[in-house]
Amino acid sequence: MARRKKLYEGKAKILYEGPEPGTLVQYFKDDATAFNSQKKDVIDGKGVLNNRLSEYFMTGLNNIGVPTHFIKRINMREQLIRSVEIIPLEVVVRNVAAGSLTQRLGIAEGTQLPRPIIEFYYKDDALGDPLVTEEHIIAFGWAVQQDLDDMIALALRVNDFMSGVMLAVGIKLVDFKIEIGRIWENDFQRLIVADEISPDSCRLWDMESGQKLDKDVFRRDLGNVADAYTEVARRLGVLPTNVTHTTKPHLIN
Ligand code: UDP
Repeated sequence: MARRKKLYEGKAKILYEGPEPGTLVQYFKDDATAFNSQKKDVIDGKGVLNNRLSEYFMTGLNNIGVPTHFIKRINMREQLIRSVEIIPLEVVVRNVAAGSLTQRLGIAEGTQLPRPIIEFYYKDDALGDPLVTEEHIIAFGWAVQQDLDDMIALALRVNDFMSGVMLAVGIKLVDFKIEIGRIWENDFQRLIVADEISPDSCRLWDMESGQKLDKDVFRRDLGNVADAYTEVARRLGVLPTNVTHTTKPHLIN
């Protein structure tokens, strides 16, 4: 059988050539990395959960008119997506102070922010994805002013949608990261949400207990990562039928 062409392998996903021009197949791995790949592990079932969760969020966004790269899920670990030209920026939206914001500015974790704060990070592993300003982005040609305006509008719509979806299941959307890509329709360029939206790229706190249900469980060794992601999927009603064995079988003597 002919092997399909691998186009790119990242830390958590692989991109293969798609069945038609303009499409790709996105494969979700079980690999987890943090702190610019200094911490690494394999978390059984994470890829299956993130494939389902990203499908759920992207489908919801498509349904309310926020364009995304998602076309359809193909199987447990793969989805068909539109091929885009990724803008080399990570767009972070914050509702509550956590992570690098608390470290950089000394604001206590958990402080509710007066309004959503949007930040841009330049995607460059060698530089450790530095925070950049709009001036840098325009001066170095990563995007033009119109792109920036469109990216901010997209990011805020994603924030409103994701905050509502999470609130409905008792989870606070603290912050998240999205990536945005360009597609061309005749002579017109459009920006669409790309990459993934999953507990790998969001901070999600249980509203009652404050329990972390996201990648911080991995970053800070707070417990079983797959169980935390499974809890998010369970609350949203998107647990795959054949789930992954997040709890290992016990030997009975
Ligand atoms: N994030 C991400 N990928 C990155 C950096 C950040 O998905 O390479 C997400 C992270 O999970 C969090 C949000 O973006 O939901 C803000 O992250 P922060 O700047 O606080 O950085 P971190 O604490 O991850 O270093």
